[in-house]
Amino acid sequence: MKMAIAGSGAMGSRFGFMLHKAGNDVILIDKWKEHIETIRENGLTVNYNGTEEVVDIPIYYPDQVTDQVDVVFLFTKAMFLGEMLEDIQPIIGEDTKVVCLLNGIGHEMVMKEYVALKNILIGVTIWTAGLKGPGKIELEGTGSTEIQNFLPGGEEKAKEIVAVLKEAGLNGIYSENVKFSIWRKACVNGVLNATCSLLDTTLGEMFKTEEALSVTNKIVKEFVEVAKKQDVLLDFDETVAYIVKTAEELGHHYPSMHQDLIQHNRRTEIDFINGAVARLANEYGVDAPINALITDFIHIKEKVLKVN
Ligand code: NAD
Repeated sequence: MKMAIAGSGAMGSRFGFMLHKAGNDVILIDKWKEHIETIRENGLTVNYNGTEEVVDIPIYYPDQVTDQVDVVFLFTKAMFLGEMLEDIQPIIGEDTKVVCLLNGIGHEMVMKEYVALKNILIGVTIWTAGLKGPGKIELEGTGSTEIQNFLPGGEEKAKEIVAVLKEAGLNGIYSENVKFSIWRKACVNGVLNATCSLLDTTLGEMFKTEEALSVTNKIVKEFVEVAKKQDVLLDFDETVAYIVKTAEELGHHYPSMHQDLIQHNRRTEIDFINGAVARLANEYGVDAPINALITDFIHIKEKVLKVN
């Protein structure tokens, strides 16, 4: 199976590295010049669970790729998804499967502009990855990757991709209800990411306060209501308990949005998390004022910090 990783930053490099190590034919695609030149000259340097490895994986700018592939794994940040899909049209053939593992909700709406519905797979991954500089990533911990074909009928191919992910140690799982998992992860991110970024706290610092639970309840309540309109049944109590447990387990962590906004001065994916809930609530005629407010606060902070 010939594969392309479209967006080869932290997560794309993790998937590229692990798939390549398992013997697959993988190419990386990115537009970050320093990253591309470093990987071309010195290989991709990976600190893999404490041991440094250097691997030689081909990396291209989007306008340099021309040969069709069997599978594309998308790993841009959400706001760059459309641009990437537009640029890599030559590698997407009639039967090329395109797997989206970005955080957030509703990426299929962007994908369907560029990819036939029968070829879209959506999913969620709980692996993590850290980008340490151009051509350099740090991988630790464990995770899994759930995927499902967007349209019924694509199960067989989806299961083949799951098998490839399993062989590569990426713990692929074929999901019968991936939309639930996508919404659940978005809800966890919707509570923890924006709040800790705005408050400049670790998860543990926030959840030591008595107000944290009340804020969590308010955000989750809106997610549950909007998800229901998409036939996704999030259980309020279970979701809140899961978020509190996550915050306790990862107490010393700053969430990824904090890293983007506060530490690296980058635009966030807020419009695809809390912002998506606010937008969908508006469309469905339900209320989500807390998620709308959080989205506005993050956009204000992005403007104040003049993010890239
Ligand atoms: P990242 O910023 O490290 O990597 C994204 C890469 O895409 C960058 O290298 C960027 O140059 C490239 N890119 C963006 N637009 C492009 C375009 N038009 N053409 C070519 N290249 C382009 O981001 P990441 O941390 O790898 O996150 C990717 C996705 O995975 C996000 O949705 C994120 O929320 C999700 N995610 C990340 C983690 C993590 O631990 N980093 C964990 C789970 C999910």
